[in-house]
Amino acid sequence: MKKALITGITGQDGYFLSKLLLSKGYEVHGIIRRNSSMHQGTLEKLNPEERQLIKIHYGDITDNNFIVNVVEKTRPDEVYHLAAQSFVGYSFENPTFTYHNNIMGTLNVLNAVKEKAKDAKLYFAATSELFGRTTIKPQNEETPFMPNSPYAISKLAGYWTTKSYREAYNLFFCNGILFNHESEVRGPEFVTRKISMGVAKMSIGDTGPLILGNLNSRKDWGYAKDFVDGMYSMLQQEKADDFVLATGEQHTVREFVEEAFKIVGKNIEWEGEGINEIGRDPNTHDVIVKVDKTFFRPIEAENFLGDYSKAKKILNWEPKTKFRDLVKIMVENDISLLKKST
Ligand code: NDP
Ligand code: GDP
Repeated sequence: MKKALITGITGQDGYFLSKLLLSKGYEVHGIIRRNSSMHQGTLEKLNPEERQLIKIHYGDITDNNFIVNVVEKTRPDEVYHLAAQSFVGYSFENPTFTYHNNIMGTLNVLNAVKEKAKDAKLYFAATSELFGRTTIKPQNEETPFMPNSPYAISKLAGYWTTKSYREAYNLFFCNGILFNHESEVRGPEFVTRKISMGVAKMSIGDTGPLILGNLNSRKDWGYAKDFVDGMYSMLQQEKADDFVLATGEQHTVREFVEEAFKIVGKNIEWEGEGINEIGRDPNTHDVIVKVDKTFFRPIEAENFLGDYSKAKKILNWEPKTKFRDLVKIMVENDISLLKKST
């Protein structure tokens, strides 16, 4: 039985990756940070049979002794290093924490694998945010990086450490340069989930409005379930390499909002500009969307469009879920969660 170790198992991707690896017969080990209420994040959403199969190790990736011990004890065949402070907005407010967590934490994980499990294959969760302010479109593995947030800069360190360890020590270390991927278990502060939850609430009587930041930001949004297939595939190759995973489609936050309201039978009429823009329900004239500067970032990385042709060619990977289906999955899931809780 193959063994996989997942850091960040309690997050969005940890959920889908655990399911995938369990379905393939892996022994799955996951690292969880202890918290006072003993919440286990998205692991709590797995079905009971899946959950009881996961072997949990309580600790933090910034604790080097802990990571070394876990890697030595578990001797994994594959390591999926997903753990990170992953929210760009928060990284502007807390850059020191973000650098420490993401850079030192990653260094600990990579060093532990290098020292204690050098035959293991490792996946590092890099990001399209590395492209930051680029004007090149679409972006692929050859596009120069121009990171412009503390989060992106912290991930750049992880990307280069992964690549240079691969080359220097002949390790099977891969970077997945993943464009935004969302789902029904996406964290509530990310814009897609904020929208799906807000629209779901309004569909069952909440008056709203939905309060957002930059509606014109353009992202390449895919479905997380499709993207973990690509992560897995990277570690099944003969040769370690770096790959972009994306959908090759670009949509604005505004389009996500419009599509989400369509699912609950509402259209939107936009009025005004910038922070004075509002969205109205044309039937009731109610304001259902407002813009607030609190949700703007000091600088934006807002022109992402991924070219995943290398992944298609080498991994035979393609995204399966279209933008409209992704929005539908998220909004319908949030409506059903609300109905269950009332
Ligand atoms: P989430 O924010 O949902 O999950 C992050 C996970 O990392 C959580 O399990 C969190 O634990 C854990 N974590 C953070 N810091 C530590 C630490 N010091 N020690 C142990 N665990 C820690 O992220 P996603 O699942 O969405 O993303 C997975 C990875 O992929 C992340 O590295 C992210 O930056 C990257 N990525 C994500 C993209 C996306 O669109 N989703 C796009 C490109 C890259 P806890 O539950 O305790 O907070
Ligand atoms: P990111 O791409 O990892 O930063 O994911 P987010 O979901 O946090 O943000 C995606 C885009 O939506 C960014 O360009 C944000 O500026 C934009 N955005 C607009 N309004 C909001 C909001 O209310 N919350 C968040 N999180 N992002 C917003």
